[in-house]
Amino acid sequence: MPESQESTTTIKSSIDELSKKWNIEKPIYDLHLGRRNDVIDTTVKVNQVIFHIPKLSNNDLFVLWNCLWPDCHNCCEKQGRLPLTKDDIYTLKNKLNYNSITEFLDKETKISSWNEPGSFGNLITHISMISLKRKVTETDEEDGKPVKCRFLDDQGSCKIQDGKPGVCWLYPFASWMESYNSRPLVHATFQFTGDCPGFYLSKTIDDVLPVLNDYSFKIYNYNMSTNRTIREGFGATNIIY
Ligand code: SF4
Ligand code: SF4
Repeated sequence: MPESQESTTTIKSSIDELSKKWNIEKPIYDLHLGRRNDVIDTTVKVNQVIFHIPKLSNNDLFVLWNCLWPDCHNCCEKQGRLPLTKDDIYTLKNKLNYNSITEFLDKETKISSWNEPGSFGNLITHISMISLKRKVTETDEEDGKPVKCRFLDDQGSCKIQDGKPGVCWLYPFASWMESYNSRPLVHATFQFTGDCPGFYLSKTIDDVLPVLNDYSFKIYNYNMSTNRTIREGFGATNIIY
């Protein structure tokens, strides 16, 4: 099966599963499955991040998001991968009470490698990073596949909340960095993976501005931290085409 078809099949089974528990509005369901051809990319700059918010022009509605935790913790139930920045590595080493980085890396992490499509489908980047194991016995074959994270407790909270990896703070945003006049420009958009019930429709983008304000700092800092991580050899990226 071609990669894009496989991805659509995975998203469909995820959102069908999600629809059993949550009311997923039809336009949002269709958007996940690439069935809308009226999507307009609306950009809004908040602090140092340019957000790309979809607007469904036939309905004249924006697709916005708000986290439904504590009623929902689906992203931790179906965690695909937890790549660590250098800052995460040092924070988690202390949080999990290891005396040395070497011991922490040996016991708690593994190497993940995956291909990431460019935001506009024009190139693919191969990324290798140190990842926090989502379960103690995690195998290479499980990399990228949904697994219940071992740090999720019975009440739906994260057992390592104040030390959790930067990537956990970002979902369902995806972000990337570009250089403009030799200055970093950070972009962010929603990931429609079929695992988050927090998307909703709204006439006005104003409803989401407080959320974007909050996430702009997390997203900007995460991108800077990832950049340092790659530069200092704690991870690697290669453009393959
Ligand atoms: S899946 Fe979405 S709504 Fe649920 S906890 Fe995660 S981010 Fe929040
Ligand atoms: S580390 Fe915490 S926030 Fe991140 S996936 Fe695991 S339980 Fe969720």
